[in-house]
Amino acid sequence: MKVWINGKLVDKRSAKLSVWDHGTLYGDGVFEGIRVYNGKVFQAQAHIDRLYDSAKHIRLAIPYTKQEMTDCIYETLRANGQADAYVRLVVTRGEGYLGLNPFLCLRPNVFIITDQIKMYPQEMYDNGMAVIIAKTVRTSPQSLSPAVKSLNYLNNIMAKIEAIDAGVAEAIMLNEAGQIAECTGDNIFIVRDGVVITPPPEAGILIGITRGVVIKLAGKLGLTMKEQTVWPKDLYQAQECFLTGTAAEVIAVTKINDKPIGDGRVGGVTRKLLEAFRQYIRQGNW
Ligand code: PMP
Repeated sequence: MKVWINGKLVDKRSAKLSVWDHGTLYGDGVFEGIRVYNGKVFQAQAHIDRLYDSAKHIRLAIPYTKQEMTDCIYETLRANGQADAYVRLVVTRGEGYLGLNPFLCLRPNVFIITDQIKMYPQEMYDNGMAVIIAKTVRTSPQSLSPAVKSLNYLNNIMAKIEAIDAGVAEAIMLNEAGQIAECTGDNIFIVRDGVVITPPPEAGILIGITRGVVIKLAGKLGLTMKEQTVWPKDLYQAQECFLTGTAAEVIAVTKINDKPIGDGRVGGVTRKLLEAFRQYIRQGNW
């Protein structure tokens, strides 16, 4: 497998970064996870825009244009002969010294991995998954905006560890106000009395690209869709719950903290949205 790194395609084993890279030393950098379906990068523009927005937020200048970055993804896919893949596009601050000052780093390191990913076992896609509500609170937007997809994922990893300890695959994270924000690597939706509800950006979330697609599809299906504050109690009153993310795609949640959601099975609205999402991908005009 070839990895694209700073303009070159190299063998996977030769794709290396310096231990002095501030990405390694401090998690100082940004990234994107992107799907490729049938030879086409899914929501390419939205992902590239978000990468550059994240970089801008942390005052990191990406040394390529957006078009160059997109071309490099395709170049890597071609080199690996992949038509369906998961792409990891990473920009680190670059090699520096042992102090924090990011502006002393030489130049950002940019790399692209194209690989396969299966977030959850098929059984969970068919029957829904169990999740917990984590005690780890999502990083406050005043500390580091969750809208920035930074290399610093320890907040999410701590919640993921809670999930693993509880024997489930994902954890819901609350914000400091105790409202539902999102999961460790997915956005969350609930369905209550036929209305599809998802926490707003102000809840402190990564504004997911899959979330955006699902909101659009819900509109096309004629469903009522609201971005609205969601409290833990709302989860238990919901008839349905599902998660969205590039790696996870769309997956139903049927149990939260051991309590069944609705009748404990994948609900009708979730099924409709899942099918609409599959169809949208198959149609390929995105
Ligand atoms: N929230 C978090 C914290 C994420 O890391 C991700 C991406 N894995 C998402 C939500 C979903 O975003 P997207 O649909 O753009 O992949």
